[in-house]
Amino acid sequence: MYWNPAIERLSAKELEEIQERRLRALVNTVYNYSPFYRKRFKEAGIHPSDIKSLSDLPKLPFTKKQDLRDTYPFGMFCVPLSQVVRFHASSGTTGKPTVVGYTANDIRNWVESLCRALVSCGVSNDDIMQIAYGYGLFTGGLGFHYAAERLGATVLPISAGNTARQIELMKDLGSTVIACTPSYMIYLAEYASQMGVDIAEDTNLRAGIFGAEPWSEETRKRIEEKTGITAYDVYGTSELSGPLFTECTERSGIHVWADMFLVEIIDPKTGEQVGEGEKGELVVTTLTKEALPLIRWRTGDITYIENDKCGCGRTHPRIMRILGRADDMLIIRGVNVFPSQIEHVLMQIPEVGEHYMIIVDRREDGLDELTVQVELSEKAEIDTTGDILRLEKKIAEKLKSVLNVWAKVEVVNPGTLQRFEGKAKRVIDKRKI
Ligand SMILES: [Zn+2]
Repeated sequence: MYWNPAIERLSAKELEEIQERRLRALVNTVYNYSPFYRKRFKEAGIHPSDIKSLSDLPKLPFTKKQDLRDTYPFGMFCVPLSQVVRFHASSGTTGKPTVVGYTANDIRNWVESLCRALVSCGVSNDDIMQIAYGYGLFTGGLGFHYAAERLGATVLPISAGNTARQIELMKDLGSTVIACTPSYMIYLAEYASQMGVDIAEDTNLRAGIFGAEPWSEETRKRIEEKTGITAYDVYGTSELSGPLFTECTERSGIHVWADMFLVEIIDPKTGEQVGEGEKGELVVTTLTKEALPLIRWRTGDITYIENDKCGCGRTHPRIMRILGRADDMLIIRGVNVFPSQIEHVLMQIPEVGEHYMIIVDRREDGLDELTVQVELSEKAEIDTTGDILRLEKKIAEKLKSVLNVWAKVEVVNPGTLQRFEGKAKRVIDKRKI
């Protein structure tokens, strides 16, 4: 099943031709309509006529989040506001928020991208889709809403939070698909069981589309075991539009629609493109966006790209599971640690529950100290303090073998740690406070 079979199965060569044509048009547009880009091009000593093929891409300067902040609110827009039909904005945790504008075509293309994705993971007009991402300036809610309606699914626009009501309506209205953060799905399942509702037995839910925070393969397994649903990964960032791409039913990577987005992987330190299949930072050039086109946008997300044709028949490249964010990387005693690596280790240990916190602090002697707090699983058969101490030691040893850093592990009772309705904030870096 395809949403747009002609485009989704184009040959690599045909896709490349589209990309080259659109890239050439894009560099001309931004040069002519955006003082920001014209200045950037001049600083880099390049002119749109220098960009003839995809191999010229590395000549173009990068753009990053700081550029949007520096030009807040509209400095990178390439159309007059009369053509902008919507704003979204990301919360400014540090400094100004970033504002993204959309023309009517931008909204149509966003919907097209997510419709292709939703169909690729089996969503259809027979589905009832519970959208439990936040609505509003955050792109999650409205992004899924427009796409699900466009493909004819029945939308339940419940937004984030209000967990008891989520479960009640899921049951009563028969939601078959849910879209939310993976940490919220875990919380929902927990809450449901406290209400005496078994999601697998008592609801029609069959699939979930989870994203907006990095999550691991082990968390996927846990969600699926707890709820009996199939869990799909979604990718998108507010600057690129919002949720755009999901895994297909093969679940081996997320298809990026190459006619709309040009992806590269670079070494985050040097900015050089890495070899095929190597890990690095995902960099995206938007090929069809009008209001806020982005050239070589540094997403900060660490992943790698698979270019082989997928078992589903789609030819577009796949980005593999996001391993973490370059920004989220913690440096502990000189060692690079991604929170996602810690989650990966924890979720492989059966006695460990789904909730954890990572705390980094600096001791009086100046050395960094990593503390991992984790809840005991409800199912773990552990009674004595001795058992807890043995479990803490086992977790610390597993973490050491993967991270190369010792962590102080504290196992706490189920239900003790904080729950999150939106994006989980699992890292507290006290060195920055
Ligand atoms: Zn596929």
